[in-house]
Amino acid sequence: MDKLQKYVKLLVNTGVGLKAGQKLVINCPVDLAYFGRLAMKEAYDAGAAEVLILWNDEISGRIHYLNAPDDAFGHEIEWIKARVKYLVDEGYCLLNVYATDPENLKGVNPERVQKQQKVNQMMSKPLSDKVTSSAVQWNLASVPTPSWAKKVFPNAKNEEEAIDLMWEAIYAACRVDDATDPVDNWKAHVDSLQGKANKLMELNFKSLHFKNSYGTDLITELPAGHVWVACGEKAKTGNNFIANIPTEEVFTAPHREGVHGIVYGTKPLVYMGDVIDEFWVKFEKGKVVEYGAKKNEHLLKSLLELHKNADYLGEVALVPYNSPISQSGILWYNTLYDENASCHLAFGRGYNYCLAGTDDKTEDELNEMGLNQSLTHEDFMVGSPCLEIIGTTQDGKEIAVFTKGDWAI
Ligand code: ZN
Ligand code: ZN
Repeated sequence: MDKLQKYVKLLVNTGVGLKAGQKLVINCPVDLAYFGRLAMKEAYDAGAAEVLILWNDEISGRIHYLNAPDDAFGHEIEWIKARVKYLVDEGYCLLNVYATDPENLKGVNPERVQKQQKVNQMMSKPLSDKVTSSAVQWNLASVPTPSWAKKVFPNAKNEEEAIDLMWEAIYAACRVDDATDPVDNWKAHVDSLQGKANKLMELNFKSLHFKNSYGTDLITELPAGHVWVACGEKAKTGNNFIANIPTEEVFTAPHREGVHGIVYGTKPLVYMGDVIDEFWVKFEKGKVVEYGAKKNEHLLKSLLELHKNADYLGEVALVPYNSPISQSGILWYNTLYDENASCHLAFGRGYNYCLAGTDDKTEDELNEMGLNQSLTHEDFMVGSPCLEIIGTTQDGKEIAVFTKGDWAI
């Protein structure tokens, strides 16, 4: 079996965890039609009851943003809502093929994008609620597109070479090679990450203190009942799935009002089709009180103001600096890859499964419990080879969790 076929099999069977009789919807860019078709075939081979493909196209999205009249933005579209409702009601599993040109929306009026993204997030909320509570099995993975590959490998001779380089980098990061079975590789990887999560659960830290030479000096308190999560979750369907391939993170939610100090971004943040870079954010009692960026500060502002509670944190994720993705030394311009090369935090929503006792709670109750609720969930990278993380236990003992950017437990 070639590596492409192994990769598709890994995503459908181990990623989505698709079982015979289940339905699957594949979100796929039209430029990657071959990949959508391969995934569909693989899903039917696995016994899928029905497979739908939703094709998307970011280039026509750009044309729309640049040319449509003002009142074409910011209103809900009934048939899209009906489609979301149908997928939720029918219990579809989800495979998202995520491949965007990081600068596709460069030069587009950010107010238009902001307005439209807000509505898109409202329309897809019934589905994103299922996703964030692991009610459905889902997987997010990437496939090279010419624009993305050329951005990541600007020195490649031509488009073809850039795409080949990108594929090899993706295979390496996703533990897909000629000699071994990636399904076995992922079993071992999941076990190792779950070992770290178990250790963190035992230690039951009250807070974590992040420090590095960039100037980061940040304390994140962890709510009582916080849960450390590694990949390999069980969905409410009873089946295991891996939400992201690749993944290297072990993560939980900080207390929404327990974040204090300053943190520096250590990688560019791709947001709304452009790049925010060299930025810092200062928190008091969980809320952002000051921030700055050398590049595109206005986008950082818009990110923090887009939705209620986007200016609080919802995720703290630990990723060793020596992960294969980080060691590749590539700046991926793709959150799925960059977040797995670096410790990160996320503005906005915390995931329900990161806190015990969240079933059937209202948004207000969840906020009250310390789990931030927002329509935003945006990761940003804070890891570095010099990152130190000290955990403080409930009885005040300090234990090194990360030393020199890597696991110390
Ligand atoms: Zn994460
Ligand atoms: Zn995240």
